[in-house]
Amino acid sequence: MINSQAAICVAPNEPLEVDTVTVDGPQAGEVLVEIVSSGLCHTDLTALEGINTSSVYPLIPGHEGAGRVVEVGKGVTSLAPGDHVIPLYGPECGECSMCRSKRTNLCWTIKPTRDRGVMPNGSPRFRRGREPVHHFMGTSTFSRYTVVPEIALAKIRKDAPLDKVCLFGCGVTTGVGAALAHVREGDAVAVFGLGGIGVNIIQGARIAGASRIIGIDISRSKTELAKIYGMTDFIVPGEDAPDPVAAIRDLTSGGVDVAFECTGVLKVMRQSLDCCKPAWGTSVLLGVEPAGAELSFPPVQVRYGKSILGSYFGGIRGRSELPALIDRFMQGEIDIDRQITHRLTLRQINEGFDLMRNGVSVRSVVMFE
Ligand code: NAD
Ligand code: ZN
Repeated sequence: MINSQAAICVAPNEPLEVDTVTVDGPQAGEVLVEIVSSGLCHTDLTALEGINTSSVYPLIPGHEGAGRVVEVGKGVTSLAPGDHVIPLYGPECGECSMCRSKRTNLCWTIKPTRDRGVMPNGSPRFRRGREPVHHFMGTSTFSRYTVVPEIALAKIRKDAPLDKVCLFGCGVTTGVGAALAHVREGDAVAVFGLGGIGVNIIQGARIAGASRIIGIDISRSKTELAKIYGMTDFIVPGEDAPDPVAAIRDLTSGGVDVAFECTGVLKVMRQSLDCCKPAWGTSVLLGVEPAGAELSFPPVQVRYGKSILGSYFGGIRGRSELPALIDRFMQGEIDIDRQITHRLTLRQINEGFDLMRNGVSVRSVVMFE
């Protein structure tokens, strides 16, 4: 058992409480990790706002972390104390039918317990006083110490800076991975929402050779970074153009080859389908919708050849494929530095979510050291 500073979400729409929790040692198949840094992602905000379906309160959010292995539980063979790791909200057991299919990066081996905020054996490892505190997304990286199943940890090279590569736990991998998977050389691309996900789609689309990258956001605050990453055109709906879809069609003679939606707003999901080229345009949805939301669109759009897809964690298999993506960062192909707009102590975490709500930050990173 170890004491740990953590940010706790006691109930929806309450500020996070920074307090000491106790963390039980790792059980069979589990690993105790000391988190060095953790980015704030919009999906954490959905837990804070009570619109994330996999949140059991009280919980410790955080799913974009990097750290070191402190202790391994019985039967853990692939990791040892001192290893550098990135916790994965999408595990990779390598053995289930989904992992073996090679058609998806989804592995649902531990999803039922993960979504109930507990470890695979059914119990949480966190407590405040006597009260159990739940895990979130199986990662809970807003605790200095966290317990994560072995199959949900990617081992990474030790020369990768832990104060930066936390962003591979979600934003960078989700954005760059999705772009590399769906953008072809010469494509015209639209990116709705220029937060941590959207800007990484832009840099991934540039790496993939897109000829035109149109950004759409209700805020102008990230345009400078988006341009550095490769954005060629920018639209603020309602200000630069009454209808972003019409504006995109005008810019691209009829529509983009690929549109990415990174807002979680249903209306924007529909716009991302509408702005695609008839006959072959692809809309890739990344945003997490409010619980229970449904999307509607005229079937003729897909009958004539458009596709509507989704992307989870950039389609990257965390344990087997993340190390190669980190190599591309270490070789200078992927940028992280410019998108970390704020560094915070754990005590400042509520300010970090305000920066996100106000559209000011791209990524805020909590530092534990
Ligand atoms: P963010 O809050 O940093 O950025 C969202 C951006 O969308 C902001 O810049 C905001 O101004 C903009 N926006 C809001 N409403 C808009 C509108 N109507 N039109 C245009 N732009 C609008 O969020 P983020 O961390 O980049 O995450 C984006 C979405 O992706 C969230 O829904 C998040 O839950 C989801 N997400 C999905 C995955 C995945 O694997 N699919 C991974 C991480 C996050
Ligand atoms: Zn995320």
